[in-house]
Amino acid sequence: MEKQDIKPALIGMTLSELQNVVMGGGMPKFVGKQLAEWLYDKKVTDFESMVNISKKNKEWLSANYQIGREAPSRQSKSADGTVKYLFKVGGGNVIESVYIPDKERATLCVSSQSGCKMNCYFCATGKLGFKANLTAAQIMNQILSIPPAPARGEEPMNPLTNVVFMGMGEPLDNFKEVEKVIEILTAPWGLGWSPKRITVSTVGKLPQLKELLDRTQVHVAVSVHTADTPQRESMMPAQRAFPISSVMRTLAGYDFSHQRRLSLEYIMWRGVNDDIAHADMLVKLIGNIPCRVNLIRYHAIPGVDLKPCSEERMLMFRNHLNQKGITATIRASRGEDIDAACGMLAGKGK
Ligand code: SF4
Repeated sequence: MEKQDIKPALIGMTLSELQNVVMGGGMPKFVGKQLAEWLYDKKVTDFESMVNISKKNKEWLSANYQIGREAPSRQSKSADGTVKYLFKVGGGNVIESVYIPDKERATLCVSSQSGCKMNCYFCATGKLGFKANLTAAQIMNQILSIPPAPARGEEPMNPLTNVVFMGMGEPLDNFKEVEKVIEILTAPWGLGWSPKRITVSTVGKLPQLKELLDRTQVHVAVSVHTADTPQRESMMPAQRAFPISSVMRTLAGYDFSHQRRLSLEYIMWRGVNDDIAHADMLVKLIGNIPCRVNLIRYHAIPGVDLKPCSEERMLMFRNHLNQKGITATIRASRGEDIDAACGMLAGKGK
């Protein structure tokens, strides 16, 4: 490995960490704030561009640190405008991020791990097994590098308006790094985003879910997929350690009726979890907790004997939930032709 590769990355550092870096190089503390501005506001990719930092200090910084920005190694564009980006993250591991444009919005689905330990039966990432936790720098690199600058003659893509932690990995299994990224995204010295622009999706990993709810204001999405406990255990081994009933009890202690939103994700499989009995189990599980249910079309992956359920069945299920007073919508499917849709990310770079 080249020396360049092993220098610590600056993106992914909080303001206090950047201040420690500059003071370690004999610079005044305020240079840390200038550095944060160059990294997160101006999004520069080299030290040379940092014109208010002296040449000597820039030389020291570049001798000891790297910015940490790396362009995606591959990209593939769906017919619907969704773009999947592949990043190399060292050790031969790759991760994927998905850019989803929607009118004036542009959402980036970021990865928090390479592979995943949760081993959900229906998920292509789960089939990879766990490879590595991403550092805050590797997560920030996805957010800062997408969309890439347009090539000559190309229309610029809309800048990101939202980030969802729904790519590869279980974000709460890498909570320390994910929490740092949330701090950088929302801090005035960072990107200055409202937490309403960020959603963290989880199988319901406790106690980190509680820490996320206590320490941030981001939206939360919980992957429920079935409220039938033995069935959920067979589909999602995480059910054994973090039963969905305990997850819902934890969620019941927080306010989701105002700014903060709770979504429950529900992938629909034909003949498995798509009947009225399953809808009623979901209604019972939700109780009085304010939330919305996202019904998701299943995207078949190799070696898994599950099938998507019909459109009629999804509508019937949605209408039943609606009649019981639960907001439920069928989520539009994006990027299926490039294996970028929900549950399809496997680092193949199709
Ligand atoms: S669905 Fe999410 S938590 Fe489950 S294996 Fe896939 S990436 Fe991991």
